[in-house]
Amino acid sequence: MRKEYLLTPGPSQVPADVLLKLAEPVYHHRTPRFKEMYKSLTEKLQKVFMSSGDIIIFASSGTGAMEASVVNIVPRGKKALCIAGGKFGERWSEICDAFGIAQVRMDVEWGKAADPKAVADALASDPDIVAVYTTLVETSTGVENPIRDIGAVVAATGAVLVVDGVSGAGACEMRVDDWNVDILVVGSQKALMLPPGLAVLTVSAKARALLDSVDNPPAYYFNLRKAVASAAKTDTPYTPPLTLMEALLVAADALVEEGMENVFARHRKYAEAAVAGLKALGLKVYPERPAAALTAVEAPAGIDAEKIRKIAKDKYGAAIAGGQEQLKGKLLRMAHMGYVGPMDIVIGLAALEMALADMGVDVTPGSGVAAAEAVLRSG
Ligand code: PMP
Repeated sequence: MRKEYLLTPGPSQVPADVLLKLAEPVYHHRTPRFKEMYKSLTEKLQKVFMSSGDIIIFASSGTGAMEASVVNIVPRGKKALCIAGGKFGERWSEICDAFGIAQVRMDVEWGKAADPKAVADALASDPDIVAVYTTLVETSTGVENPIRDIGAVVAATGAVLVVDGVSGAGACEMRVDDWNVDILVVGSQKALMLPPGLAVLTVSAKARALLDSVDNPPAYYFNLRKAVASAAKTDTPYTPPLTLMEALLVAADALVEEGMENVFARHRKYAEAAVAGLKALGLKVYPERPAAALTAVEAPAGIDAEKIRKIAKDKYGAAIAGGQEQLKGKLLRMAHMGYVGPMDIVIGLAALEMALADMGVDVTPGSGVAAAEAVLRSG
């Protein structure tokens, strides 16, 4: 018998009532039953993301929605501003390249947050930029970007702000309307507590106007204008992933019932506990602006993070992520988003602590857990 604890930043744990919903019989989608469900789902997701915009759902992973929010938004002759501070920020730039879309790329050192002032300068110096692409939680580095401040900068211009909230939206503070986010892209497999397979987008009126101005975008399934037109009729252009959508309604209900302010506060507390625990184990927090959704730390000098991870998983059953690209072998990334409680933090820290001790690292048994408990018990 093997029991595994999924503490990776997606896929993440799925509650039993969501899983059970997935086992229900399938029904036809061109029916009042589907429309009613989509209507409730739209209302609930608007509350979760604090958006009064359209809610669009694609049967894809988050990257599909990222692609849709590039190809439908930036017309020929105009440019995207891509903020690249990690593997996922770089994806915006790669999508532009794949479609031959002109871009201004703003590289941000990995581990650092995007600078709103630099965004303002870039927009001021290039009037061809019609959209700014950034990331809420850069999962590869554990940074949470200052979306509110970037939103204020972009809102003062004619450009739209597109935020990759695949990781973090539904866990970290994210107020789409108040923060002037025109398109928020989310994946189902992280804070939304679902299996992989759904991408969700919010679309503001400003983004809709831009969509309407782009003729013949290089998109068919991912044609956002078509999807928005269907959504206005509580419909979808093609067969919707209705079983996953039914399950998302269960998850969204739970978030709305808890209240988003409570959801944000709960995740902040997890992050605080994880940071305290990991620091007590002698590990250095990697990002300069740590996210509420996951904590990334550096492995001790001379120790391969992949080996720590392997022991944590194979011997103790805790699946924790490692570093990606140039950070492979150097980082450990413990998620605390979605269907997570205080004990998940304790389990992750205990597994890492034992794995570090097994590798001969000098850790005081229980020190990480004790530091996290002090945070978790407070308030
Ligand atoms: N953006 C971020 C911030 C992510 O964390 C991920 C997934 N790790 C993606 C985009 C890509 O999402 P998907 O794998 O669902 O396409």
